[in-house]
Amino acid sequence: MPTPSANTIEDRLYVLRTRWEHYVAHGRFEQFIEFAVAVNSLAEYFNRLRLPGLVRLCEGLENAALARLGDVSTHPIAMQDTASLQRQLDTLLGSVATSRSSGANRRVQEPFVAAPEIDWIKPRSIWMIAAREKRGMADALRRQLQFFGFKVYEIDWGGEHLPEDRPLAVLFIPAGDAARPSEFKFISAIRESCQASQLFYLGGQSAIEPIVDLMRAGIDVTVPSEDQPSMVLTCVLDLVQTNEQEQYRVLVVEDSRVAVALIQRTLAQHGIDTRAINDPGKLLDALEFYRPDLVLMDMYMPRFNGVEATRVLRQMTAYSSLPIVYLSGESDVGMQVEALRLGGDQFLIKPFNPVLLAAVVKTRIERFRETRRSTRLDGLTGLLNHTAAKSHLNAMVQDSDHRGLTVAMIDIDHFKSINDTYGHPVGDQVIRSLAWLLKGRLRSIDLIGRYGGEEFMIALPGISLDQASLVIDRIRADFSGLPHAHPGGALYATFSAGVSSYPQVDTAAHLTEIADQALLQAKRLGRNRVECHR
Ligand code: GH3
Ligand code: MG
Ligand code: MG
Ligand code: MG
Repeated sequence: MPTPSANTIEDRLYVLRTRWEHYVAHGRFEQFIEFAVAVNSLAEYFNRLRLPGLVRLCEGLENAALARLGDVSTHPIAMQDTASLQRQLDTLLGSVATSRSSGANRRVQEPFVAAPEIDWIKPRSIWMIAAREKRGMADALRRQLQFFGFKVYEIDWGGEHLPEDRPLAVLFIPAGDAARPSEFKFISAIRESCQASQLFYLGGQSAIEPIVDLMRAGIDVTVPSEDQPSMVLTCVLDLVQTNEQEQYRVLVVEDSRVAVALIQRTLAQHGIDTRAINDPGKLLDALEFYRPDLVLMDMYMPRFNGVEATRVLRQMTAYSSLPIVYLSGESDVGMQVEALRLGGDQFLIKPFNPVLLAAVVKTRIERFRETRRSTRLDGLTGLLNHTAAKSHLNAMVQDSDHRGLTVAMIDIDHFKSINDTYGHPVGDQVIRSLAWLLKGRLRSIDLIGRYGGEEFMIALPGISLDQASLVIDRIRADFSGLPHAHPGGALYATFSAGVSSYPQVDTAAHLTEIADQALLQAKRLGRNRVECHR
């Protein structure tokens, strides 16, 4: 790709021409965006040089390009549209040339190549390859996975007949601790035919060397024996979860409509949600309302500039660590350093390279979310922790005016004896499984928090107390039938729940207190039941 930090007019014209040539040759949507961004940047450049005639020509081309932006499915654009843009571009380049006596190159027209679009859907099947000696554990694991909606295929060690559909994961459960040469061969063969699957080896390996050998054969994760069933379930569930993450949100602060459109197209292509404001005066409202993961900040805007807006944000605790990326035509290094020193995280030059923009935005957001996760989420379950759950409930009560809001406190029954009998890791897995069951059964708008060790708080907005109790009771019944694998087989657990609801109960603190009382009542009345405060 041509350098995105173009300085001279020659550089800018070169970028513009080659981007157009790339688009004409391959006809891809991203290339069209890159071209449009280059036109926009050239317009900004002529604007700074105060060359209104050339600005007008640029803007004409920009508008014509924008009108044909469409989406992935509309590219390559029709021949006559390409020809018309070509004419406008030639006129622009011709005018630039005559105003500085340098020639513009001719372009070569090539046949268009369409890019096929592939939808990627993660498989929900698991292959399990267990030694006869490990039948008990394998059975429990299979039932547990099936409970969470996975299709489990059991395959013999060295078996030739493999299922048609490629699995999400393959679980190798060998008889002993050390892998045998014949096992390595089989693992390699499976690796060969399932390139996209995650391969687990459930054998106790304490030394590095045998684990390296397994890795070379194609194993992704080696799980030590003591916490096999719980680790595997967590890993497999995590594999699916990465897909269901909340969409990234980017706030674009930019006064140019064209730049906004191009940024939004680029980020939307990468599955990132965006909101745009054209006036930095609206920044605080937008932040509070939209809660972005990152701000893309234009440098030059009316009233005050991007650096000033950033300095204000950095003085507010709520936004002191929010990633801010500048996007500007500014190519002066001293200015860039100054902008970073005053609170920005990164500086991207217009015309931006869409691939680079998306990569920068994604990695910044990943790190930001990771940091925020560790302070708001519980490490064992990934649910909101005690503090975050409480403040979220407060916000929900404030939001819920006259639509109902049901709060339930859930506590696992006789949990101490599960720990005592099967050990802490198995206890942890029971907690995780309940977390997963709640996540699977409740809606994305519902609150699910790990309130204490084996205590959960959930809040369901917008449905009646009766409907909510029904939902919770169904989860209770299902949980009691969920097998929890442990090295010797499977165990079963139950929970009790207490329910209160808004507006009968008026504050968040009061809701949890009343739900707690109802929970105590459920325990008194024999456990494995749901009690409502009415
Ligand atoms: P009850 O039916 O009355 O709730 O009986 P219980 O045994 O569950 O009693 P209680 O709720 O008071 O016990 C909670 C136990 O949970 C105590 C603690 O050892 C255990 N625990 C707390 N956090 C964790 C955890 O993160 N992992 C595991 N494995 N155990 C935990
Ligand atoms: Mg601007
Ligand atoms: Mg408890
Ligand atoms: Mg308990």
